[in-house]
Amino acid sequence: MDVALDVKEHRYNGNGTLTYMNNSPDTLRELFFHLYFNAFRPGSEMDVRSRTIEDPDSRVGARIAELKSTEVGELVVARMSQQGKPVVLEHLGTVLRATLPQALLPGKSTTLNYEFTGQVPVQIRRSGRNSSEGVAYSMTQWYPKLAHYDQRGWHAYPYVGREFHGVWGDFDVKLTMDSAYTIAATGVLQNPEQIGHGYPAKKALKRPAGDKLTWRFMAKDVHDFAWAADPDYVHFIETVPNGPTLHFFHKNDPELAAVWKDLPGHMVKALRYMNEHFGTYPWPQYSFVQGGDGGMEYPMLTLITGKRRIGSLVGVSVHEFVHSWYHGMLASNEGRFPWMDEGMTQYASSKVMQHLFPRSEAPHASAYRGYEALVASGKHEPPIIHADHFATNMAYGVTAYNFGELFVHQLGAVIGEENLAAGMLRYTKACGFKHPEPIDFERVMEKQSGLELDWYFDQWINTTRTLDYGIRSIMEVDGELRITLERKGEMLMPVDVVVEKHDGSNVAYHIPLTLMLGAKPAGGESWSFTALPAWQWTDATYTFAVPGRIGQVSAVTIDPLDRTADIDRSNDRVVFPAGAGGFVKP
Ligand SMILES: [Zn+2]
Repeated sequence: MDVALDVKEHRYNGNGTLTYMNNSPDTLRELFFHLYFNAFRPGSEMDVRSRTIEDPDSRVGARIAELKSTEVGELVVARMSQQGKPVVLEHLGTVLRATLPQALLPGKSTTLNYEFTGQVPVQIRRSGRNSSEGVAYSMTQWYPKLAHYDQRGWHAYPYVGREFHGVWGDFDVKLTMDSAYTIAATGVLQNPEQIGHGYPAKKALKRPAGDKLTWRFMAKDVHDFAWAADPDYVHFIETVPNGPTLHFFHKNDPELAAVWKDLPGHMVKALRYMNEHFGTYPWPQYSFVQGGDGGMEYPMLTLITGKRRIGSLVGVSVHEFVHSWYHGMLASNEGRFPWMDEGMTQYASSKVMQHLFPRSEAPHASAYRGYEALVASGKHEPPIIHADHFATNMAYGVTAYNFGELFVHQLGAVIGEENLAAGMLRYTKACGFKHPEPIDFERVMEKQSGLELDWYFDQWINTTRTLDYGIRSIMEVDGELRITLERKGEMLMPVDVVVEKHDGSNVAYHIPLTLMLGAKPAGGESWSFTALPAWQWTDATYTFAVPGRIGQVSAVTIDPLDRTADIDRSNDRVVFPAGAGGFVKP
């Protein structure tokens, strides 16, 4: 693409050449493109949705409805041709239908030439001009972006402000604008010598305004191209041995500089941890850029708000950087399966944050609290719902982020911590650059553990059933302890139980489900346990006997590590005062 931006009118025009390979077994007669900037217009689907949803996003609310013609977003494809023949274009709000004069056969490629014009909206959500922190241009989802076609067909979702999904490609983008601006972008800058002494711009640049400068960026294997520009960016670089170059851009402000100077050290540690535990970062560069309205991931780059204390700055930077794995490299369809992107990102981010700042609280505890609050609210919806169609922003947010994180962490209680850790690494290797779906993650974890996990995925992803196991009775019978557990919720899970004694010793047991066709390995957790016969999933109760006298027992606890999303903890632990004579649930 070759694009020129006019910083007085906030309008841009561009032309592009797109070579598209049809890797599908289908003949394609039309292609679809996203035109996201058209969402920022009064009456758009995003505008109506933002105003009518039960719990509006305070960043959007009715702001789109109030935009003037000079403030709206616009993206129009004026012309497109296929090998010289005109393509028929139909603008459908945030989607473009392009009907090809010549059908594209399976295994063939075609080349399209196109011209487009756009207007950068006042910043409403994520992208736009003049952010709340004064960043001039946050240019994300700004060009005609090819939609993804796969075995489920086209994924050209009209944009309402939630998730994105795209197809990988190689980008070569020339951006021409007023030379006073510094540009941060997806990809690697190809002409730093032309850009001159101001790259990297360790001080804010004082290039003459009014002249034009062209920045050329190239990126391979990315599914989006984002950029930001400001005349006042400070830019510095951290080089990681055998790793990508990390770039940092923030506005020239001593208070920002005092906080941002500590970011590179933390991000190098984060990168090393992610490489070791979740797979190697595959691109040559990554940029942390002040811009946007919070934190948002794009390939090789994130836009984050920058006026933060260091803990918050590191927290948002880690989350967005970790998206390089689940959004950039795995790239599950986050419209269809938002938990696979946001939830896995949250899971890995929690691990990274625990690595950077060891804390006493269990790293995933807040995910469980969020999920439990959602269930208690009655707004819980099946996680399989498309991201755009959750009835409330709360249900979408908690399900994508909190539920997704606990779904992964809780899997450790089923297959064991070591299998989970090895499985996450294996998942990246097996499914990287393949757009995995839930079944692909399930199969990796089944192969890793040797256990059947379809029941786990089916129930947790497709239903709103809830989990509640409890202790029904603990008695001494014929000189041994007899413990009866009960399943009160519809959701099925294996159960860990710990019996503690007054002498300070304790013994742990694991009860798998018959559905698993096995049990997690005895050495696969950081603590030892004895596996008991499987719980028939049809049975509401399960009784097992362990050696010991009732007077020796101080407590019995199920799920002692709080790894399951059990919605009633009150029946999970029974404590015996010395000399007590058994327990039967009242
Ligand atoms: Zn995220």
